[in-house]
Amino acid sequence: MAEKRYLVLARKWRPQSFDDVVGQDHITRTLCNAISSGRIHHAFLFIGSRGIGKTTTARILAKALNCLSSSGPTVTPCGTCDNCRSISEGTNIDVIEIDGASNNSVDDVREIRENVRMVPSSGRYKVYIIDEVHQLSIAAFNALLKTLEEPPPHAVFVLATTEAHKVPATIISRCQRYDFRRVPIASIIELLRKILEKEQVKASDEALHAIARAAEGGVRDAESILDQLISYCSGEIAFKDVFDVLGLVDWHVLHTLCDAVLNKDVAGLLLLVEDVVANGKDLSQFVQEILRYYRNLLVCKTANGTDLLHLPEEELLEVQQRAQRFTLTGLIRMVEQFAELTSGFDSQLAQRIALEALLIRISKAGVELSVDAVLEKLLLLEAGGAAGAPAPVQPRPPDPSQAGPVEAAPTAPAKPRRITLTTDTLAAHWPAIQQHAGRASLNLGVWLVKAEPAAIEGDALVLRFPSGAAQARNIVEKPENRGTLEEALAQITANVRRFRTELIPETAPAAANTPQGIPAFMTTVSQEDAREAMQDPLVAKVIDAFKGRIVDIKHPGAPAAGERSP
Ligand SMILES: [Zn+2]
Repeated sequence: MAEKRYLVLARKWRPQSFDDVVGQDHITRTLCNAISSGRIHHAFLFIGSRGIGKTTTARILAKALNCLSSSGPTVTPCGTCDNCRSISEGTNIDVIEIDGASNNSVDDVREIRENVRMVPSSGRYKVYIIDEVHQLSIAAFNALLKTLEEPPPHAVFVLATTEAHKVPATIISRCQRYDFRRVPIASIIELLRKILEKEQVKASDEALHAIARAAEGGVRDAESILDQLISYCSGEIAFKDVFDVLGLVDWHVLHTLCDAVLNKDVAGLLLLVEDVVANGKDLSQFVQEILRYYRNLLVCKTANGTDLLHLPEEELLEVQQRAQRFTLTGLIRMVEQFAELTSGFDSQLAQRIALEALLIRISKAGVELSVDAVLEKLLLLEAGGAAGAPAPVQPRPPDPSQAGPVEAAPTAPAKPRRITLTTDTLAAHWPAIQQHAGRASLNLGVWLVKAEPAAIEGDALVLRFPSGAAQARNIVEKPENRGTLEEALAQITANVRRFRTELIPETAPAAANTPQGIPAFMTTVSQEDAREAMQDPLVAKVIDAFKGRIVDIKHPGAPAAGERSP
């Protein structure tokens, strides 16, 4: 039904003259100059995304060439003569519109070649508008090329495409090329205002801005959204209505999400998800929007990427500004992870938990990346060699001048540095195990966030899940995930080979959630400070790797903990 109304509105407000075409002044001006100087090329190539005026401009060109109100081609077709009217209605026999997607065979093009020889019946020119021309077969292109090489003087071809790179160079070289642009937000808003005025409907400025942004520079999309809104709203169209009708989250939400990730604002991220859920948005769609958003950042980050975005300038600036704050590797990882997240959702709850876990992970991504980089370097240094074949491992005596927050003790030259895990050391090593498993399987990693490492019993790790996280537990228990986690345990620990899970009953005392204490042999600072320091995955990993202990805590730019609190 919406589709039907949309057609009505789009047809109703379709531009009838070059002056009415929105946001393509560079094209209409050139076409007008060509018409008034009588230098009309026989083949035009109109390039640009869908719904930004290529076919509309082609029809206006056809009217300009064939309008009966003037003795020759005119830049101001009357719009009322038989030719102008039948061209607008798509019934003029001299203006032939062909959909390249469904008429792409060599026979279709041969038919054009035969038809083109005949002189126009009521106009001066026969105008062939071939939409989606890139869909023609190779044989059809070859047939078309012959016509373009020796066109009869009364023939004008307008080839329109969204994908110019799929059009053979031999065809392109025969055409005058016109690149249609995404329409700036301001121009779309201006157009919407004109339509609203004629339709006698009111809309807030914010709503118009939102429609224009959602249309991403496409006039037809903007008109279609406005049409739906006119049906949806009884009174004035408000900002919120736009996102209700589209079922979308505002771009503003995506910018906010991105900022929260950059600022490692976990609470902000969870509130944002809460908000999206509370507003009844579909989470799979939301994830896809996030994916598209980060994909935009990624494209922006790469050379010449901005040409591919087709974003209005205002939006481009917002995206560029944020893209600069991420590393390229970081963005690639995020896009990969969100892409992975879009597959394999089976319930709204699963979507939500997985999304929250991933958001937390990526907001910590900077730390995680540097952990890997630093560890790799340290291990290499420790091995006493540069990159390449591993050098013979030498035990290194402690160097007093290197004393820092973490004191490296002389360690055994064992190659895989496996640790003996006990219930007491479990909390300290859990982040490393989680990360290891998460790197092997993102899916496992996100669900493990819900698990609490409770104890080591013999060669088994006991993982507890809160009563509300039964699903997380089931997923972790899946055979493939069980294998991955057990492999991580085998690689990191010397003594733990398997794990079992427990669901904490609802009536369980809150004490079950209390974090493990950090044993005294690992630290000479207070439990509280040590626990805080161990929450930093870098610290936890370095302590793990070098069998270190925390002797002092220095915050960047702040005095040591010992100096602060005597
Ligand atoms: Zn006319």
